Amino acid sequence: MTGPQERPARLLPETADPDTGGFFAAAAREELAVCACAACGAVLHPPRAYCAECGCWETVWRSVSGRGRLYSWTTVEHQTHRAFPVPYTLVLVELDDAPARLVGYLPGRPELAAGMPMRVWFEPLDEDGTRLPQWRPDDDGLFEAG
Ligand SMILES: [Zn+2]
Repeated sequence: MTGPQERPARLLPETADPDTGGFFAAAAREELAVCACAACGAVLHPPRAYCAECGCWETVWRSVSGRGRLYSWTTVEHQTHRAFPVPYTLVLVELDDAPARLVGYLPGRPELAAGMPMRVWFEPLDEDGTRLPQWRPDDDGLFEAG
């Protein structure tokens, strides 16, 4: 039985994709990783198999700190899927140590400010160890990690 405070079953990401699987493999270890060129080191975000900087077809997954700054956000008030009860807030976080922005989910309507420090946490999605990187304000206690 699903209570009012409990979220229904989550949608699972495709974790075996050759271009993005490394992101979820890292998340399962509770590491945040970005795709990078194996030859020149350029960050390839969104992940892709080819580096436009140097023409290399070999990529690696590089661990990053899991810290960033809130770039933008929006609060959703109209429910479109039962796995995402409203209200909830989608955040776009710019990583501190890589030229990449990642999306995350916060329940409710948290108090947020552009540029505020954010920190990653890893939401368990199933019993097989699938985890999804999520974001929370870094130091104000607005949100408890699950
Ligand atoms: Zn390259």
